[in-house]
Amino acid sequence: MTNNSSALVLFSGGQDSTTCLYWALRRFNEVRTLCFTYGQRHSNEVEVARGLAAEANVPFQVLDASIISQLADNSLTNLAMTMDCEKPENSYPNTFVPGRNLFFLTFGAVIARTHGIQNLVTGVSQADYSGYPDCRDTFIRSANTTLNLAMDEQFIIHTPLMWLNKAEIWALSDELGVFEIVKNKTLTCYNGILADGCGHCPSCKLRNEGLKEYEKSIQSGER
Ligand code: ZN
Repeated sequence: MTNNSSALVLFSGGQDSTTCLYWALRRFNEVRTLCFTYGQRHSNEVEVARGLAAEANVPFQVLDASIISQLADNSLTNLAMTMDCEKPENSYPNTFVPGRNLFFLTFGAVIARTHGIQNLVTGVSQADYSGYPDCRDTFIRSANTTLNLAMDEQFIIHTPLMWLNKAEIWALSDELGVFEIVKNKTLTCYNGILADGCGHCPSCKLRNEGLKEYEKSIQSGER
């Protein structure tokens, strides 16, 4: 991987993409962030992301991607729906936004291209317990090929969190020296509550269980 290069980080201001932002800052000379709005439940997500990008001293761009929530129903944008906390058998939780990462990567690649950026960084993880199909490694590889063919470019999609569980993502943020920033300043909660969040939404449960597991591993001297 060359260090003399630039990257666009798909950035939401949550735990995962903030860890990815600092991962990218270690590897690339120039880093930009791109944040999508698509009618999420919490409107303060963008301001949190903007603040984090400012703290990291990187350019921040917001793109309105609300078209994706007009295409199909999901519980992140439809406030009348109750969020699934667990994956139903033979289907996906209603927090699944069909096509989301395909749209995000496509929009991101077009914007990267306009800035002459080859590298895209996204915080998807196959270890994500929701099991979203567009978080899987095979999808990312396929999308990478498709985007290169679509634009005759040589994009490289980086997924530093692909094989990490939440505890390992906390460990990575610690290795990158940004554990406190990620713990105290990111927003992962589906109910829009900063840092430790509401504690009971699916996203908070994952984040907090991972944090507990990581802290336990430090205390027991495993790390
Ligand atoms: Zn929450």
